[in-house]
Amino acid sequence: MSKQCVFCDIVAGDSPSVTVAEDDTSLAFMDINPASDGHLLVIPKRHSTDLLDIPAEDLTAVTLSAQRIAEVAVRELGADGVNLLNCCGADAWQTVFHFHLHVIPWYVDKTRDRLTLPWAPTRGRMDTIAELGARLSAAAN
Ligand code: 5GP
Ligand code: ZN
Repeated sequence: MSKQCVFCDIVAGDSPSVTVAEDDTSLAFMDINPASDGHLLVIPKRHSTDLLDIPAEDLTAVTLSAQRIAEVAVRELGADGVNLLNCCGADAWQTVFHFHLHVIPWYVDKTRDRLTLPWAPTRGRMDTIAELGARLSAAAN
């Protein structure tokens, strides 16, 4: 996979990155286009395309690593909060097709981040919400 995948190249050491943390399964490194001070990515070392195909053990390792680093961002960088983001699919803003979790520290001081809520929350129709919830529930269980 490494021939086509920039994140596999980073795991292999064939492409440079600023490593923050790693274990046998996951790697955390700084994002080159940071949305905020300390924005980083956590990936599985083993290639998975996206949220729909990553094995549970890799997803678990990546998520636990993201939690640990989120705590460090608050403690060390003084972040006022943290957003985790995963984009799954090109239409949902995924641009690198090796699963990754964005860890984006959030700051009250807007000189330190450019993150905004990506939608304007407006109240939905209850019948539509209930119908979609019932369909998802029936298919998920
Ligand atoms: P996506 O849009 O797929 O959710 O996010 C991909 C992220 O990977 C972007 O935030 C982008 O800045 C980051 N990125 C893309 N190429 C590289 C790279 O070569 N090195 C690093 N460190 N980050 C990258
Ligand atoms: Zn890869």
